Amino acid sequence: MAIDPKKLRRLVVDMLMEDDDSTTPGEHGSGEHHAALPFLSGVLYTQPNPDGSLKRCGNCANYATDTGRCYIHAEDVEITPAKLCGYHVFSPEQLKTFTSVLPLAPVLPELSGLREAGEGQGCQGCHYYAGDDSFGDCLGVVSQLGGPAPVEAKGLCARFETKEA
Ligand code: SF4
Ligand code: SF4
Repeated sequence: MAIDPKKLRRLVVDMLMEDDDSTTPGEHGSGEHHAALPFLSGVLYTQPNPDGSLKRCGNCANYATDTGRCYIHAEDVEITPAKLCGYHVFSPEQLKTFTSVLPLAPVLPELSGLREAGEGQGCQGCHYYAGDDSFGDCLGVVSQLGGPAPVEAKGLCARFETKEA
């Protein structure tokens, strides 16, 4: 069975937050008990592409343009430049900033969040985004100080959910 490191990390972060009373998870809504929201650092948030483009497989360092494959998905998973998942990495240089490289089994599309992305996506197209074309708040994560975390319109994280029209 493939183990998805991102999902595992999210579970660990949630468990740590539940065990630690000093952390105040974000609450949005009625004041009833809600599951703790993850920190921005726990959902692999990435800043906007340096060239201003929206994120898509076509500008991801994990996409092999010669074979049409994604290095982290199985060979039989169809990838096109107009798709996107939560593991998007803009450039090989950005890939080098990762702190570790795990011996990964192929990531399952239902866990990576693989989806059609057209010309590209970013926080501004996410269900959890509240902001303008430049900056906003993410209501799907919590900042270290509590409350919504500030994000950039063209950033992205693994919690991305397409905003309903
Ligand atoms: S599926 Fe994800 S990791 Fe693979 S090329 Fe597309 S955005 Fe990058
Ligand atoms: S707005 Fe969506 S994509 Fe952006 S950080 Fe929040 S959950 Fe992730």
